[in-house]
Amino acid sequence: MSRILIVEDEARITAFLEKGLAAIGYATSVASDARDGLAMARTGDFDLIVLDLGLPDRDGMEVLRDLRETDGRTPVIILTARADVGDTVSGLDAGADDYVPKPFRFEELLARVRVRLRERRAPEPTVLRAGDAALDLRTRRVSIADRSLELTAREFALAETFFRHPGQVLSREQLLSHVWGYDYDPGSNVVDVYVGYLRRKLGGDRIRTVRGMGYRLEAVGPAT
Ligand code: CA
Repeated sequence: MSRILIVEDEARITAFLEKGLAAIGYATSVASDARDGLAMARTGDFDLIVLDLGLPDRDGMEVLRDLRETDGRTPVIILTARADVGDTVSGLDAGADDYVPKPFRFEELLARVRVRLRERRAPEPTVLRAGDAALDLRTRRVSIADRSLELTAREFALAETFFRHPGQVLSREQLLSHVWGYDYDPGSNVVDVYVGYLRRKLGGDRIRTVRGMGYRLEAVGPAT
């Protein structure tokens, strides 16, 4: 199991990340200021570090520079509300591996976490399957039997979330945070609307409504 250190002072974002990363099987630890963050990062106990720049005691960039003096290897993904190009460049110069501007969608951060962790171990499959439906992560297309479907970016992100958890009930809240991000209104019906779009494209029987709980991707047709 990969261990991820989250250095972030905003409780809402920390909770969102911890919950999301734990749900897909990562072990997480949290530091809410630069001092603790650096001390924990230096233990070498983590496979990846998610680092906020706006910390209460010191700037995250200083944490990164100090860490890189002794540890040039552990991947660091910077998370920040400062999103201009100059910041990106100085973050990467200071030894960050990637840079995610806030607000971010969970799936976007997750994709980057996977890439950084993957560089250190065996590749993961690039095609996810459920019955005769297949989702290709490289070409970002979905096909059913031999028929290829056009999906918008948001529809693809939603489909990807389902295909990563086939047969599992996903709540509206889970889907909302995975695909739309933590800053999205929890009262929104956007999940239901997009599930409707996906059903129209994939076929109505593939995404089942589980009353009072959420939605589930069904394997329909023979496995390909
Ligand atoms: Ca902050």
